[in-house]
Amino acid sequence: MSKSVPAIEVRNVVKSFAEFRAIDNVSLTVESGIFITLLGPSGCGKSTLLRSIAGFLAPDSGSILVGGRDVTALPPHIRPVNMVFQDYALFPHMSVRRNVGFGCEMKGMTRSEIEARVDAMLELIRLPDVGNREPGELSGGQRQRVALARALAPDPVSLLLDEPLGALDLKLRLELQHELKSIQRTTGKTFVFVTHDQDEAMSMSDLVAVMKDGRIEQLGTPRAIYARPATAFVAGFVGAANMLPARVCGIDGARLNLEVEGQNWVVPTDCITGGKSAATGDLVTLVIRPEDVIVGSGPGLGELALSARAREQTFLGGRIHLRCQTANGTSLTLEVRPGSALEGDGILDVYVAQEAVAILVDQKETVK
Ligand code: ATP
Repeated sequence: MSKSVPAIEVRNVVKSFAEFRAIDNVSLTVESGIFITLLGPSGCGKSTLLRSIAGFLAPDSGSILVGGRDVTALPPHIRPVNMVFQDYALFPHMSVRRNVGFGCEMKGMTRSEIEARVDAMLELIRLPDVGNREPGELSGGQRQRVALARALAPDPVSLLLDEPLGALDLKLRLELQHELKSIQRTTGKTFVFVTHDQDEAMSMSDLVAVMKDGRIEQLGTPRAIYARPATAFVAGFVGAANMLPARVCGIDGARLNLEVEGQNWVVPTDCITGGKSAATGDLVTLVIRPEDVIVGSGPGLGELALSARAREQTFLGGRIHLRCQTANGTSLTLEVRPGSALEGDGILDVYVAQEAVAILVDQKETVK
């Protein structure tokens, strides 16, 4: 397929169950060859969107294109996409070889073409020797690899993966995340992956679409979503986030004059996210990640300096989250290394660099 034709286009799709709108006018263009993840809390509509693309659900309105072709009216088996499910959905009484070759049989490929394709797929998933076993004789991780091989074998335009690693323990899950990503790179296929696990989404994806209440709240690279969240929901869903209230005191060209915690702080206007703009008097929210709150000695150029009283610690393995309170009573979490001397309820001098702040202009009331 030509690079210029998107692998998948979702155009203004609406899907309701009775009165409930599970997908609320979603549009999404997925370029060919990328790994995109639909990320969001349970019930936000990820699976409904994926099933609509696969053809298991018919949208109430809107259209779906695969490889430039409108497939909205086509049944699932005709669409050039394949789905991988959390519960593998392998045929239990067929050998692994027959499972993997099944889609190729349905496509009418010759016996020798199917055999060659199955061999290539079993090599790809690094299980060349399990072809004659039945799925029941494999581990969960092996079954999921076989399910992946089966979905890839007929050479679909795109693979749709619905929480495929959800049933696996953490160690295996991490291993398969790595493997899935590597298979996606090797094959150059478009993967649309669904998960509610933000770490999984961040570590695997080229693009992440964060969903909430049947809508896409933000679409961007994992880095952009993390560092430049467009809404408070996205900021909180993809990682720990400090939310500091602030007020815009003035705008001078590309500089925003803020009042935060009783102090003035000047930051570039491009700290504002979500394509919004601010006006003098606006109440805004500053999003600051815990690892960007630096405990140190004296503010660097342009840094916000705060005093924070340490309240409690959460041990997270390689790091500790220290929950503090500012002089204004705002809660502020910062990250320290285990074994560092920052303990108890001491008062800390902390600093935040301009580039570490994302500004949400989500409250439009004006303060006198
Ligand atoms: P999860 O991570 O829990 O699978 P999700 O984001 O994939 O969640 P969906 O399965 O897409 O969410 O469901 C979205 C909403 O639509 C939920 O509130 C769900 O209860 C509802 N829903 C999904 N399928 C149906 C159905 N067949 N009939 C009625 N309601 C449904």
